[in-house]
Amino acid sequence: MAEQLPRAVELVRRLRSIREVAEVLDGEGELFPYEADAFTLLRGRALAVVFPLSARAVQEIVLACNAAGTSYVARGAGTGLSGGATPVDGCVLIEFSRMNRVLEIDVTNRTAVVEPGVINADLSEMVAPLGLHYAPDPSSQSACTIGGNIAENSGGPHTLKYGTTSPHVLEIEVVLPDATLVKLGRRDGHCAGYDLRGLFVGSEGTLGLVTCATVRLVPDPETVCTLLASFSSLVGACEAVAGIIASGVLPAALELLDDRTIEAVEASVYAAGYPRDARAVLLIELDGAAQGVAEERECVERVCRERQAIDVRAAVDEAERAALWRGRKGAFGAMGRLAPDLYVHDAVVPRTRLPEVVAEINEAAARRGLRLANILHAGDGNLHPNISFDRRDANQLQRVREMGEEILRICIEAGGVLSGEHGIGIEKRDYMRMLFDECDLEPMRWVHDAFDPEDRCNPGKLIPTPRACAESNPRHRGYAKVEF
Ligand SMILES: Cc1cc2nc3c(=O)[nH]c(=O)nc-3n(C[C@H](O)[C@H](O)[C@H](O)COP(=O)(O)OP(=O)(O)OC[C@H]3O[C@@H](n4cnc5c(N)ncnc54)[C@H](O)[C@@H]3O)c2cc1C
Repeated sequence: MAEQLPRAVELVRRLRSIREVAEVLDGEGELFPYEADAFTLLRGRALAVVFPLSARAVQEIVLACNAAGTSYVARGAGTGLSGGATPVDGCVLIEFSRMNRVLEIDVTNRTAVVEPGVINADLSEMVAPLGLHYAPDPSSQSACTIGGNIAENSGGPHTLKYGTTSPHVLEIEVVLPDATLVKLGRRDGHCAGYDLRGLFVGSEGTLGLVTCATVRLVPDPETVCTLLASFSSLVGACEAVAGIIASGVLPAALELLDDRTIEAVEASVYAAGYPRDARAVLLIELDGAAQGVAEERECVERVCRERQAIDVRAAVDEAERAALWRGRKGAFGAMGRLAPDLYVHDAVVPRTRLPEVVAEINEAAARRGLRLANILHAGDGNLHPNISFDRRDANQLQRVREMGEEILRICIEAGGVLSGEHGIGIEKRDYMRMLFDECDLEPMRWVHDAFDPEDRCNPGKLIPTPRACAESNPRHRGYAKVEF
């Protein structure tokens, strides 16, 4: 420890001396806001938070950390929900928010070259006058960054038709853990050899640091029709989801909000005019050529009514459409009013299993006396059961932990997986064993070790360490408390 202190002081001094670093924070109060991302059940304390302005600066930061034997963690906006950007105790947190320039817009090839700290929604706003947008649209898009989206392979309501982040990323510039700067993928989207771009997207900041990305821009559709279908039963709404997809229509978005979510939204500043007496609503967006959208609308309305929809209505203008989406995208925020803490869970099941899975999750929460509200990217079978709670109540906290694990068990037994879009991070790292055995996990470790043999780049996230190593590796000890 006595040896470590001067080394830490020396490292901070070296970080401050890097030319294209905007700021280095290391004061007690300054570090506090960076102790967790939006998954606040686990925290860590960084040695310092550093704000690079260029790829060159990122390389120098990595070199400084390597020389000091210190690990480092990338952070975009810190909206992650699985603890991906939560610091490992004593690490350097590399904050990308100041690398936020859009470097190039190529209208002919429909691409943009961006720094990692560009905020998702800002890119779409910037290219809107050109009739283009950036398709991946996490509900956090007004805050989260493209770098964070790449690391998490983030999705959003429009993932159903347009895909997650990965197909929208053509080329990335990355600082590897040995501080070399490489390009993965190609701007024209063609790829020969191993698809290292594809490997890197979704690797949760454990293989290197994104310093620049070329992403696709998508033309705005000719027509958009946004429908709100209300149901008197949650099961009916879930069955309509499978029915719509089975009918051959592929909506741009197909979202489900249950009655508790409707109640929270309608009592908040995000009030959207959702019917308070419905047990669930489906927010369905159709887009494309006018004739096709009209035919799809007819089909979707028919399917909903066959599943006992009480009402199906279409937004009459852009203002009403925006209000319907504001309610959906603000729903997590609206739940902030219900209790001091909110655990936003994330798992996926085959969409045909939604009716029984949602019912089972609701029953399990009721048995534990927990308040749980459901929001689903329903078309993708992606569930977000949200538990409102108060962490100061130890008993309640214990029930929330148990419930989190039970949600995963229910989903995996139904043929699902651990996460649809929020990633594994530290939240679900140890649950990877529910889905994978050691034979499955070992090749993941080979890939990791090929990039980061010293295990300095966001250590302790995503892949569970073999049990024996977890005891002896000091960088993993920070998370020995993974049962939060
Ligand atoms: C209200 C709310 C709604 C949300 N809705 C959605 C949703 O609809 N869909 C969805 O997918 N997610 C959603 N999320 C989760 C979160 O917004 C996404 O995971 C997002 O991509 C995180 O971006 P960020 O910039 O905040 O990254 P952070 O949280 O800062 O970091 C996320 C991960 O990316 C890594 N990282 C960040 N920058 C870099 C970089 N430059 N290079 C390498 N690694 C990097 C970090 O180390 C970390 O592992 C939501 C979160 C909230 C709070």
